[in-house]
Amino acid sequence: MSIPNSIPAAFDLQLAYQHQRRKTFGYAQRRDVLRRLSAEIRAREPQIIAALQADFGKPASETILSEILVVQQDIKHTLRHLRRWMRPRRVVPTLIGFGTSARVEYQARGQCLIIAPWNYPFNLAFGPLVSCIAAGNSAIVKPSEMTPATSALIGEIVAAVFPPELVTVIEGGIPESTELLALPFDHIFFTGSPAVGQIVMAAAAKTLASVTLELGGKSPTIIGPDADIKQAAKWVAFGKFSNGGQTCIAPDHLYVHETRRAEFITELGARIASAYADGPTSPHLARMVNAAHADRVWGLVQDARAKGAALDVDGMRAGDAIGPTVLGGITPDMDIDGAEIFGPVLPIMGYSDIDTVIAQITARPKPLALYIFAQDKALVRRVLDQTSSGGVGVNLTMAQYSHNNLPFGGVNNSGIGNAHGMYGFRAFSHERAVLRNRFSLIPLIFPPYTGRVRRLIGV
Ligand code: NAD
Repeated sequence: MSIPNSIPAAFDLQLAYQHQRRKTFGYAQRRDVLRRLSAEIRAREPQIIAALQADFGKPASETILSEILVVQQDIKHTLRHLRRWMRPRRVVPTLIGFGTSARVEYQARGQCLIIAPWNYPFNLAFGPLVSCIAAGNSAIVKPSEMTPATSALIGEIVAAVFPPELVTVIEGGIPESTELLALPFDHIFFTGSPAVGQIVMAAAAKTLASVTLELGGKSPTIIGPDADIKQAAKWVAFGKFSNGGQTCIAPDHLYVHETRRAEFITELGARIASAYADGPTSPHLARMVNAAHADRVWGLVQDARAKGAALDVDGMRAGDAIGPTVLGGITPDMDIDGAEIFGPVLPIMGYSDIDTVIAQITARPKPLALYIFAQDKALVRRVLDQTSSGGVGVNLTMAQYSHNNLPFGGVNNSGIGNAHGMYGFRAFSHERAVLRNRFSLIPLIFPPYTGRVRRLIGV
């Protein structure tokens, strides 16, 4: 079948196929197509690396780890568990339902729209697609216009693996997104900023499409008084500077206990010097996605400096690349204190009382991630109990993302619903309750009513 040449044609083709898909797109077919997707990605690894290099200078090893391997791992995990996930789940009988059998069946939601961001453009297009296909849906995928080389390649890979009645890629930006969002999809899976998340949810409200919103925000990181500072500096540098800091779960800002602050800054400085010796031109550092973003991030540094922030590590700028930068003496009037930084710039705040940190965290919108480095289990427990966030990393950063058995998602401003593994499968499935009457033993509900109904509850 030829690829449809317009957004309505792409949608209508998948719509026309939906009854057929419900009949024929079972476990074996889903497994087969996921295997083919895996093979296609493997065959195109050099192209994927080159596309991300062209789009924002992403280092090859980072592309392998955070774009290719995570998707391959997702496919492998899905193939291993899909049969079990698809199996209807029996639920425990209740007294009132005596004589019935009850189960939950996982039914494809139908026609899905996946809108992806630019920061992990490959992973965040294919990751949701794997769950979408595993659950038996069709999909239109709209990658980001900011990473054109990767978006074009996503289109090629999809066209090589899937027939258009099952999956199509629509490239483009806001006009294409807006046109897509006006269509009556059954489910919309959106990854991007909270501001655009609101636009997506408002559009979904028009047709009452269900949504999964994977959003962003400012993820705080706490370094406790008894933290292993060497380890903390290593993990923070990894979380903050991978992908040029353009990561939704990057530590956005740090609260370091005053007694360990100087030691932490020294350790972090040493870590930066050894991992990114060439500063902004380091081959291990991705550059900002475009000049506008580089200007925005650099502007945050300039604004903070003008308002009195200390430059603990001077990252410097070279074109669209910004070197790892560490700022101290942050005050609430600085722009960097309010905006999601989304670049390799780390503001550090000191604290002496954990309650003030908890109060500051809970006064802001709920973050996507929260990190705490501490040995004291009571302190960790306190932070866990008294804050809310999408996920939490204790004595690590980022790794919660790639644990296949954990849900990945935000809460309120950082997102709605979950992705990954079984949680991703369920995001794209309708959990359908099926109750069978086996012995007709629930006659009390039929009129004419007698005293039996009242006697049942003792009135
Ligand atoms: P974005 O919200 O600007 O764009 C995301 C997608 O929405 C793109 O495909 C874009 O074309 C489309 N879009 C943009 N404006 C639109 C509009 N007005 N109407 C309809 N569609 C529109 O996000 P981004 O800049 O690509 O990505 C960065 C953001 O995404 C950050 O906030 C980051 O934290 C977040 N993010 C979240 C996750 C997660 O898993 N929770 C992962 C990566 C990024």
